[in-house]
Amino acid sequence: MKKPIVGITTNTLTMAEGVNPNIERSYVNYDYVEALTLAGAVPILLPVIADQKTIEAQCALLDGLVLTGGPDVNPLLYGEEPSDKLECIYPERDEFELYLIKKAVKKLIPILGICRGMQLINVAFGGSLYQDVSHYSKTELQHRQQAKQHVPSHTIDIIPTSKLYQLLDSKQVITNSLHHQAVKKIAPGFIASASARDGLIEGIEKKGKDFIVGVQWHPEKMIKSQTGMQRFFNHFVDVLK
Ligand code: MN
Repeated sequence: MKKPIVGITTNTLTMAEGVNPNIERSYVNYDYVEALTLAGAVPILLPVIADQKTIEAQCALLDGLVLTGGPDVNPLLYGEEPSDKLECIYPERDEFELYLIKKAVKKLIPILGICRGMQLINVAFGGSLYQDVSHYSKTELQHRQQAKQHVPSHTIDIIPTSKLYQLLDSKQVITNSLHHQAVKKIAPGFIASASARDGLIEGIEKKGKDFIVGVQWHPEKMIKSQTGMQRFFNHFVDVLK
């Protein structure tokens, strides 16, 4: 059987020092590549580009799409002015991924959003974000952990009827937590599939048949420490077959 092709969205990086300083590079953290390869997919990297016809051609290659972590989403996209807690934004990447989401949805390509990826899905479908978790009055939980990135940090509870439950096979998981933004108003047509013990949304998904699932934590950073997190990617790739 042909292995499913999964597009992974990338970031752009310029290093001031090194062998070739000040050159822009497209890159992705290798743990996404590793998780998807182990799950039996063929990962391909999708560089940020502006031309819509080229984005459509990228999309035509894909059986599945993973929207990765990265900079904050531009708050103007959900009708807010920038808070003083807003961190780095990358508007060209927002525009690229929003168009990619639109085309992938039209083609019924399953989408998995991780961290920023989940937040961008929420914005793409009309939801909003807390520009910083401190704006969520009910929390004293640490959502940007001081521990190493693979370390399980806080508990999340999962709705048993959700697609997320099918990916995790569990109603309760301890995840890492590496975010300073979060879903505020959930997009119409979506449900909160998981939440932390302070009530903050840790997973969203579209209601109905379309597979559009987002998680706030980073399962790809936990595949070596927790078997359930590699199984999460295995189950996602199974959806594509
Ligand atoms: Mn969290």
